Amino acid sequence: MVLLCGWRWELWGELKMTKTGDYCVKRRLKISTPKHPHNLCLNMSSRHDKGVNVQVLLRCRPFSNEELKNNAPQVVKCDEYQREVAVSQSIAGKQIDRVFTFDKVFGPTARQKDLYEQAVIPIVNEVLEGFNCTIFAYGQTGTGKTYTMEGECKRSKSGPNGELPPEAGVIPRSVKQIFDMLEGQNAEYSVKVTFLELYNEEITDLLAPEEISKVVVEDKQKKLLPLMEDGKGGVLVRGLEEEIVTSANEIFTLLERGSAKRRTAETLLNKQSSRSHSLFSITIHIKESTPEGEELIKCGKLNLVDLAGSENISRSGAREGRAREAGEINKSLLTLGRVINALVEHLGHVPYRDSKLTRLLRDSLGGRTKTCIIATVSPAVHCLEETLSTLDYAHRAKNIKNKPEVNQ
Ligand code: ADP
Ligand code: MG
Repeated sequence: MVLLCGWRWELWGELKMTKTGDYCVKRRLKISTPKHPHNLCLNMSSRHDKGVNVQVLLRCRPFSNEELKNNAPQVVKCDEYQREVAVSQSIAGKQIDRVFTFDKVFGPTARQKDLYEQAVIPIVNEVLEGFNCTIFAYGQTGTGKTYTMEGECKRSKSGPNGELPPEAGVIPRSVKQIFDMLEGQNAEYSVKVTFLELYNEEITDLLAPEEISKVVVEDKQKKLLPLMEDGKGGVLVRGLEEEIVTSANEIFTLLERGSAKRRTAETLLNKQSSRSHSLFSITIHIKESTPEGEELIKCGKLNLVDLAGSENISRSGAREGRAREAGEINKSLLTLGRVINALVEHLGHVPYRDSKLTRLLRDSLGGRTKTCIIATVSPAVHCLEETLSTLDYAHRAKNIKNKPEVNQ
């Protein structure tokens, strides 16, 4: 097995900028480019040409110690087999009984491993086949978005056979699956990662090599990155550090570095992380040979998004007004909701351009990317209003159909 870091693209074909701002090698067909009969980039999107619905999963976390201590009543009940979530509670003499169905439901006893094996393995397999996929974690602060996406990432805690700790979340498990697969096959490949945070419509590179303390204490010194149009309908984050990695451990180190930056900012900058979005992306290029001796390059990208707490976008206009006064309104999260609405209602105008998050992830909603949303809720009564809001929002998102086009 040969590993390529910094590919000799010119050997394989002309570079082309994709809609998401990545480079891939332009498709070269034998018949149209007789001088380069062996250069062929797979046209992966054709398998999805009929369009696929956004997949929506629901995860309800267990009670916290505090909630157990207070004997908090349980208002959310999960029926994993029926893929149903029931919310039941009487408030001021009014009974609330609602049932929501999702593509999959994970209750309080579901382990990280269960969610990963049942929902994420097939998505990562698609990425390894050369597709772009996005997983969003959406929900109120404290319901388990970061636990689900990152969990316990420290490789140093892994077992003697390299297995991950049981608390490892979607990101470390995806990284492990990707490298296990790549290292086990006889193909050349490259893996690149980026990790950014979006807070108050400002993008920060979580992998930038500055000192964490400098970034946090001297906020003005934080390097903010501009989002640029690439001239082809996509966007680019100018100056975003793109790390070429050669092993899962290298990614775990980067992930720890980036997460530490996010966590440190949280304590010093007034809970910034609950109002910020993080986007961890892994781009894979795999070079393969067909039995006919042609060379294929598969380009797949996995976007893993830990969204800001959804309590910042209440359904109520009055609450929204108060949030705006408090300077807490989250433009990207609001716009995400409006984009979902526009897609579900088939409105002519979809306001992707109104926020950085939706500009960055435009292709994941109504585009060519295969998308999964993991909505997270608390089982406790004190979160009832936000839980219903999350369930409504997530249920609505089930109706989004991504309509892949043929990548020419
Ligand atoms: P969020 O990112 O949505 O604000 P966190 O991921 O930080 O929430 O989770 C809040 C707390 O709840 C953390 O202490 C986390 O470990 C715990 N937690 C969340 N989901 C689960 C779960 N499914 N199982 C066990 N603990 C969980
Ligand atoms: Mg979090």
